[in-house]
Amino acid sequence: MSEKLLMGNEAIALGAMRAGVHVVTGYPGTPSTEVLETVAKHNTGGSIYIEWSVNEKTALEVAAGAAYAGARVMVTMKQVGLNVASDPLINLNYIGVKGGMVVVVADDPGPISSQNEQDTRHFAKFAKLALFDPSTPEEAYTMIADAFACSEKYGKPVIFRPTTRVCHSCASVEILDDLPKTKPAGFIKDSRWVIFPKLAYANKPKIEVNLEAMSEQFSLYEKNILTGQIIDSIPKTLPVQKSRRKGIAAGGVSYAYTLEALHNLGIKDSECKLLKISTYPFPDKLALKFLDGLDEVLVMEELDPVIENELVRLCGLYQLDTVILGKRSGNIQNTGEITPDIAAKAIAVFTGKDLLETTVQTLPPMPVRPPVLCAGCPHRASFFAVKEASKTIQAVYTGDIGCYTLGNAPPLNMVDTCLCMGAGITIAQGLKRAETNTIHFAFIGDSTFFHTGIPGIINAVYNQTDIIAVVLDNSTTAMTGNQPHPGTGKTMMGGSSVNIDIEKIITALNVSVVKKINPLDIKVAKEAVRSMIPMKGIRVLIFESPCVSNINTAVKATADESKCTGCKICAEKFGCPAIGIVSGKAQINKALCAGCGVCAGICVPGAIKMEETK
Ligand code: SF4
Ligand code: SF4
Repeated sequence: MSEKLLMGNEAIALGAMRAGVHVVTGYPGTPSTEVLETVAKHNTGGSIYIEWSVNEKTALEVAAGAAYAGARVMVTMKQVGLNVASDPLINLNYIGVKGGMVVVVADDPGPISSQNEQDTRHFAKFAKLALFDPSTPEEAYTMIADAFACSEKYGKPVIFRPTTRVCHSCASVEILDDLPKTKPAGFIKDSRWVIFPKLAYANKPKIEVNLEAMSEQFSLYEKNILTGQIIDSIPKTLPVQKSRRKGIAAGGVSYAYTLEALHNLGIKDSECKLLKISTYPFPDKLALKFLDGLDEVLVMEELDPVIENELVRLCGLYQLDTVILGKRSGNIQNTGEITPDIAAKAIAVFTGKDLLETTVQTLPPMPVRPPVLCAGCPHRASFFAVKEASKTIQAVYTGDIGCYTLGNAPPLNMVDTCLCMGAGITIAQGLKRAETNTIHFAFIGDSTFFHTGIPGIINAVYNQTDIIAVVLDNSTTAMTGNQPHPGTGKTMMGGSSVNIDIEKIITALNVSVVKKINPLDIKVAKEAVRSMIPMKGIRVLIFESPCVSNINTAVKATADESKCTGCKICAEKFGCPAIGIVSGKAQINKALCAGCGVCAGICVPGAIKMEETK
């Protein structure tokens, strides 16, 4: 046995490998991405099959197939990805699995890098699935094996829900011996695998029975913890607030913050009962033991008041007069992250303890760094070309999910809408139906094109909608850290694969006008956009140029002060972060310049030159 410093996502990955996972699939999405990547990094000999699938639905279905054959499988995604995978997952609960299936869904309180703050615990309840909610990386390492065991015991998929701070914090984790690994028994033909209404009708009561059994089992689960005692003889001399018998219920990373706050505030076991909830369906019996004899309970959890609502339900059901405080009562904020400071302050107020200066850490404010497209990013050139070519017409620019969503920032201002993966192309079609005289440009990245973009193109072709779709192809999934996709010709198993050509797909979909252009050649790019504006039907422009983080060049831009007129087009209209205006003249930061050459192409007096540097 040894100890390793692991990020939460690494702990989940190594925990799944220890538990004998055979197949891992997923779609990249912060904060979940490193789980699959860590399995790939440690997959010596290729004994585990790993893939980035084209989207979360596909990932879940591939894994489900392997689980039908008895393999232990793990699927990884972020919370919004679960919406894409929800159809197969909910149905899978009715069908069941043979091998253990754990669906890792990382929630993003804040949200820090997501479109929303949805709480996957609601989804588990809605889908009638068990959910495991780790508090720390150390716990996640062993808990994932428990999740596989639970899945196999009940023959159902199980959700594993770390939140951002569990995913991305690091801890020293004790590496345990591998658990015995079983060989998949193989698929056995049986009518149980074919979902018909009759089968769903027969299986629904079994799901309900399972949920009750899980709740019973989870009341005894070692990671659901009840500590502290009730004080029966509270001195009546204490103020009313302090004399009430109190308890705190917490889940996820909020439990770790609660432990820290209780320690820092010097609150003893005898002063406050503590309940840790790590699993759902809710462990009613354990929670009732916790509530027994308490006057007031404070609930600490991210994101929604799920534990809080369950405790309120139990109080109603068993006619307990315990007051449940938390997000519903306004004692805790009901959006965003619960930080250690927020937890400490709320617990201090609840317990009547004084919060010492040292209890709350005051850190200097972080410098403000608004997210921008990188210097040399080909998306900046693409947006600039479309903006320039369409500046005299009435146009709307729909966007999508990826680095290129940052095209909404000034000075480009080229993303008017962004909803969810693949929606840019379809939102543009709806806008066109409502405002026929406007030209609608729909931007979509290459990975998103494969994820959910293709059906939108088919819809536009079939329904004969006039839009200009602009595929921003930088040959990678850049936003989540350069994962491969079907257009890259690479897989997570290390070998090369077919490189699926976006242009050929679009042509095969009967799109009559398709052009592929290098956006760094701004003149040609602008001309291509201009030529498409008067056309009808769906026209597709593919702007192809690699992500700047994947190219290495010694060529850099230099501005000649004597030729620079100070027009600021390069710095303030194009907006490359490597260019600043000093004393009215352009100055280029060579450390930031990526040598894309666009500034040289747009500088009318020719003040910028590209030079080889050593
Ligand atoms: S575009 Fe050319 S002339 Fe204008 S500020 Fe930049 S370097 Fe100077
Ligand atoms: S300074 Fe010019 S060449 Fe360098 S990254 Fe910016 S636009 Fe490209």
